[in-house]
Amino acid sequence: MASDGCGYDSMIGLLGGTFDPIHIGHLRIALEVLEALELRQMRFIPLRDPPHRGVPEVMPQQRYEMVAAAVADEPRFLVDDCELRREGKSYTADTLSGLRQEIGEVPLFLLLGSDAFRGFPSWHQPEQVLALAHLVVLQRPGEMMPNLYPKRVATSWGDAQSLPGGRILFKSTTQLDISATNIRRMVRAGLSPRYLIPDAVLRYISEHRLYQAKE
Ligand code: ATP
Repeated sequence: MASDGCGYDSMIGLLGGTFDPIHIGHLRIALEVLEALELRQMRFIPLRDPPHRGVPEVMPQQRYEMVAAAVADEPRFLVDDCELRREGKSYTADTLSGLRQEIGEVPLFLLLGSDAFRGFPSWHQPEQVLALAHLVVLQRPGEMMPNLYPKRVATSWGDAQSLPGGRILFKSTTQLDISATNIRRMVRAGLSPRYLIPDAVLRYISEHRLYQAKE
């Protein structure tokens, strides 16, 4: 279970994803949002079985280990294995319910790229997700920002800060046109994804011979 031993007394950010593999795009939005919103911690939550896409290329334990390697040198980042420990589909509503029991009424900020936000209404229990956390939506390069749930958009930062969840915030972050899909393609084609992923993740991929072209 994720814990840094210093109590849960202030705002927490959450970044869920397949992380197949984790890349600099994920790390950069996590840091920029953490600093802009003055969050105490950002938890990375690798999902085990994605409800909305095919089976990830790499097994859950290895995706978790790559995230752990990527966040190891940033004390405000933490990797949480709660979805890996749960059987079945990784529904965010279940994850947030579990977290709420663990941390109480602390404001939670769930980060979503604009592509993920577009699909949000078709998630399992989206209203429940929105009741349990705020959404922080980040523009992904080349993506239009969807106009969803206009009544839930936070009117001010203080508006969101004073509630455990229920508001949507749009944040601008450095635009990095990096995707895990592209990194997998590069490795398969024999190209190096260096500088798009942390060195520790690059080493992990090459040591475990991940994403290689099938012989
Ligand atoms: P894939 O290419 O396999 O779909 P991905 O790069 O989108 O993977 P995910 O693990 O699916 O990575 O993403 C987790 C979350 O991070 C999603 O909300 C996604 O929108 C967001 N995200 C990923 N990459 C970026 C990026 N470069 N900029 C902003 N948000 C991003």
